[in-house]
Amino acid sequence: MAREKDYGNPSLEAKLKDRYYYSDDTNRDFTKEVEKIGRTIAHMCYQCGTCTGSCPSAPRSSYRIRLFMRRAVLGLEEEALTDPDLWLCTTCYSCTDRCPRDIAPTDVIMAMRNLAARRDIVPRNFLKTVQAIYTTGHGVPNNDVNRAARVKLGMDAEPPTTCGFPEYIEGIKAIIDHYGLKDRADKILSEGE
Ligand code: SF4
Ligand code: SF4
Repeated sequence: MAREKDYGNPSLEAKLKDRYYYSDDTNRDFTKEVEKIGRTIAHMCYQCGTCTGSCPSAPRSSYRIRLFMRRAVLGLEEEALTDPDLWLCTTCYSCTDRCPRDIAPTDVIMAMRNLAARRDIVPRNFLKTVQAIYTTGHGVPNNDVNRAARVKLGMDAEPPTTCGFPEYIEGIKAIIDHYGLKDRADKILSEGE
């Protein structure tokens, strides 16, 4: 049986038992929702920092995965979903490989992005990427400089993707339409103009 420390202060002891006690804008359901969407045990994070130490984005930006893990555990929904750093994860999964608690921080971030998107909080460049994929099948469409480089290297100007087989773009459109992604991106982008 776990031992409990006697602080001689019932009010403090009650607070220490409640991991949500110190924030007015805590949403207890946020932690559960992140765990459900991300299918990972975020509440087991003990803030060791291995994730941030493994993260290629950390040395190049203000993004700190450990901070988002803390927000997930504490239910700090507004702080998490409105922070632009949420979109700086490259989804490389290094943190997930190395977390000593077998948590998937990457999937915590993906869950938070899903929740942010439900509230139309998505950076414009991500929305423009949706539009580009919809029309070309690529987030970064081919261009003349790239075509010239490919030919110089002895390759076809167009790679064997939707660039070379544009007839498959219709299939990509159907998938994106199924989720209403393009319409959503168009709507959010037009509202911001
Ligand atoms: S590596 Fe795992 S346990 Fe450590 S801070 Fe990151 S998510 Fe938490
Ligand atoms: S998956 Fe994201 S948070 Fe994790 S190490 Fe890679 S960039 Fe950093």
